[in-house]
Amino acid sequence: MRAILLGPPGCGKGTQAKILIDTYRVPQIATGDILREAIAQETPLGVEAQSYMDKGLLVPDQLVIKIIEGRLKQADCESGFILDGFPRTIAQAEALDTTLAGMGLKIEYVLSIEVDDAELIKRLTGRRICRACGESYHMAFNPPHKKDICDSCQGELYQRDDDKETTIRSRLKVYEEQTAPLIAFYTGKKILYPIKGVGSIEEITTRLKGVINA
Ligand code: AMP
Repeated sequence: MRAILLGPPGCGKGTQAKILIDTYRVPQIATGDILREAIAQETPLGVEAQSYMDKGLLVPDQLVIKIIEGRLKQADCESGFILDGFPRTIAQAEALDTTLAGMGLKIEYVLSIEVDDAELIKRLTGRRICRACGESYHMAFNPPHKKDICDSCQGELYQRDDDKETTIRSRLKVYEEQTAPLIAFYTGKKILYPIKGVGSIEEITTRLKGVINA
């Protein structure tokens, strides 16, 4: 299965990707996670990406395209993959098509998760992430059993710097201007599937699987 999870920050892409990879036994490829890891390790990529990410801006296309090109050629992608947070611009989507075409492959599903801005802001400001395993929580909607401690691995939970309200507003603006045009791009290719992104995590998973299993 080769799928893209598309949608604004906070729509639940990462949460759903983590559930779907267990069902379909393919890797989740999240450019945001790869970039945060590069920042933590202070690699040249991380140093360059950080200034953009701190402001809620997109990292330049050529950097993320290079990451994805390398990642898709790894052996674990042979059975498929779920892209989470990539592509985010038309240029990235075109580069992805070219890379996949070179491998004799194409994307089958673009699952576009729809949530309105007021709900996204509520979700993102309450979001907490485990420093150790990356598991995502929400202080109101999906709190951990022990405050600031991960249920799965006992790691410490933290708030991403870019989940502060002013940065969230720039990320939503960037989404509207640069990423939302992908909806028309993939509609034109007849592989776009809109998914209502409100409801419980399980309800949204059921909607996603309904499309994939159809
Ligand atoms: P995310 O974890 O997907 O919300 O991504 C966090 C931040 O990483 C974004 O706000 C961007 O600064 C950067 N980023 C992640 N994926 C991409 C991408 N495909 N293109 C450009 N920047 C990205």
